[in-house]
Amino acid sequence: MTTGRCETSVMPILAPNLDCIANSLAERFHKLYGTSARIFLAPGRVNLIGEHTDYNDGFVMPTAINFYTWVAVAERPDRILNVYSEHFGEMVQLYVAALGGPPRKHWSDYVRGVAAVLQATGRTVSGANLMISSQVPLGVGLSSSASLEVSTALALLAISDLESPPLELVKICHQAEHECAGTRCGIMDQFIAVFGRADGALMLDCRSLAEQILALPHDIRIVICNSMVRHELAAGEYNRRRADCEAGVEVLRQHLSNIRALRDVTLADLQGYKHLLPQQIWQRCHHVVSENQRVLDAAEALRSGNLPGFGRLMYESHASLRDDYEVSCAELDLLVKLASTCEGVWGARMTGAGFGGCTVNLVRSEAVDSFRSRVTESYQKATGTTPEVYVCAAAPGARAWQPFVG
Ligand code: ADP
Ligand code: MG
Repeated sequence: MTTGRCETSVMPILAPNLDCIANSLAERFHKLYGTSARIFLAPGRVNLIGEHTDYNDGFVMPTAINFYTWVAVAERPDRILNVYSEHFGEMVQLYVAALGGPPRKHWSDYVRGVAAVLQATGRTVSGANLMISSQVPLGVGLSSSASLEVSTALALLAISDLESPPLELVKICHQAEHECAGTRCGIMDQFIAVFGRADGALMLDCRSLAEQILALPHDIRIVICNSMVRHELAAGEYNRRRADCEAGVEVLRQHLSNIRALRDVTLADLQGYKHLLPQQIWQRCHHVVSENQRVLDAAEALRSGNLPGFGRLMYESHASLRDDYEVSCAELDLLVKLASTCEGVWGARMTGAGFGGCTVNLVRSEAVDSFRSRVTESYQKATGTTPEVYVCAAAPGARAWQPFVG
């Protein structure tokens, strides 16, 4: 995270002044590269409900948040990409003619990947100087990677006098993350970074990519609590869960010939074939199938203004992730429990892959301050760790800031 003049603390409370951020980034860009810059931004995101459903062709309900990754860019006359990340305080030089190759396990993989995939679509990417500045905390499940990819893609397209339809942009960035960063993520992160809405969340069908816009009431805040822990098991367990789901589909397919993924299985089907599945595989399938239904129910709850109902589904989602899918941890369980005892909280649950990271909480605006102090104090007392609390609002998707700031 950068410490520009306009940012008041480690993480600003509610929307910091975007003009101020853009202008100060343009100034720093000028200092580093000696030219003016064009500026692009793409939001981070939080998933309100629908966890571990994306790779089962299911439903998710992310909302873009008003914390952005910013990319300032200016064209160069050669075929070099100079990329400076303020977060890492590091400059990397890439050659447009030599962008391919496997993941290097370096942050520049995301930038290299986007440029490489753009080139692979037949576009010619110009040389450029780039500066990356992020308000999205890195690696805690708020999708700093997708917001970096999408803002970089917009910057490179603009500087190269190119365009891309938004859905193609999503797919280019998704492919970049798979091929050059080596992360087998679903498409939700890139989708919401492009299609985010200031007025609410999206329900996304991860199979068809059909979306529904769901308005969020104005008097609620999306409050994210960062447990500040990341348990080592995360990557291995993620792959094991995916394999468990595939194993479940394999068995069920022998009896339900028309299924392709757990998305096609009903709770009644699952109950009917319980005796055929090992207990653990059944639990994994039960989480996914019930979570898909919860997303559909949650969308209905939002449409009818039923926030208590929506909140209940969030708590149920957490219990299912904890008990059936077994991807929670003591710290996340504690944060959800604490939230459930606070005034003005509609619902809370872990969000992201699990084993640490963040919880998402739906909180009435006027209760945010008391929520923050109560959760911070109690969590600190119990764990010795101070959580970070990010108070967010829904945000629009990636865009250009202003042409030729600076
Ligand atoms: P998440 O997307 O949940 O934040 P990931 O592990 O998918 O977590 O992506 C985090 C990675 O994305 C970082 O480790 C880094 O490599 C890259 N990244 C994100 N933001 C920046 C940034 N501002 N500068 C450089 N790299 C970044
Ligand atoms: Mg990511």
